Amino acid sequence: MERSQGLVLKVDSRNNGITIKSPQEVLIMREAGRVTAAARDAVVQAVQPGIKTRELDAIAAREIKRLGAKPSFKGYRGFPATICCSINNEIVHGIPGDRIIQEGDLVSIDVGAVVGGFHGDSAVTVIAGKAPSPQGEQLVAATQKSLELGIQQAVAGNRTGDIAAAVQEYAEGLGYGVVKEYVGHGVGRSLHEDPAVPNVGRRGVGPLLRVGMVIAIEPMLNMGTWATQVLDDDWTVVTADGSLSAHFEHTIAITEHGPWVLTVAEGA
Ligand code: MG
Ligand code: MG
Repeated sequence: MERSQGLVLKVDSRNNGITIKSPQEVLIMREAGRVTAAARDAVVQAVQPGIKTRELDAIAAREIKRLGAKPSFKGYRGFPATICCSINNEIVHGIPGDRIIQEGDLVSIDVGAVVGGFHGDSAVTVIAGKAPSPQGEQLVAATQKSLELGIQQAVAGNRTGDIAAAVQEYAEGLGYGVVKEYVGHGVGRSLHEDPAVPNVGRRGVGPLLRVGMVIAIEPMLNMGTWATQVLDDDWTVVTADGSLSAHFEHTIAITEHGPWVLTVAEGA
């Protein structure tokens, strides 16, 4: 098995079916989301030039443990760390280590936590110190915006293609490449459940969204083309053309009142 199937779902991989969560289960997933958000935000606060990616990983691990939860990623398909930390041309699955964050780096942090047997999954891209160029800032802002547009489509009666089309139309309209090989997914007792939630697609196509489904939406936008490559470590996914990439992700419950973003901080 190719390990790059890893923490961000590969478009053609098989999952564990669609599950519908009870209202009680959704509340547990909100707790998993709260812990995931706390870990993510603690890492974001710590991102600055001079820090090692290994130190960022330790911050996430400490926060998850402090909140009485377990990391979702560590050991998942052999992944060795609590977070994925992917820098600049790295899209996803960067392994924390001795790499030192530099001024202006685009730093993507992906993290998950388990509470009561249910997972949360969230990612964010931040710029360390001063942005190297307005283009880098614009890419990050556009990726975040594309996630928001995707979330707006996460309503019962829509289909996964409605999310995909919203992300794709916005991102491609700005000239960015939308990663196709890696996609969002259902979340629950497994980190990856059905349905796959692509970031490119057509409205009205794909599995129907129903109340009680919980999905992760996670657009990955490249400054250049959508094409990707996996490095020799069998994990790190990079842009094939070497261009910058950004990644944002939330875990969202489909409720009768609309999308409920579970991976936000307490009180948010
Ligand atoms: Mg995910
Ligand atoms: Mg993730």
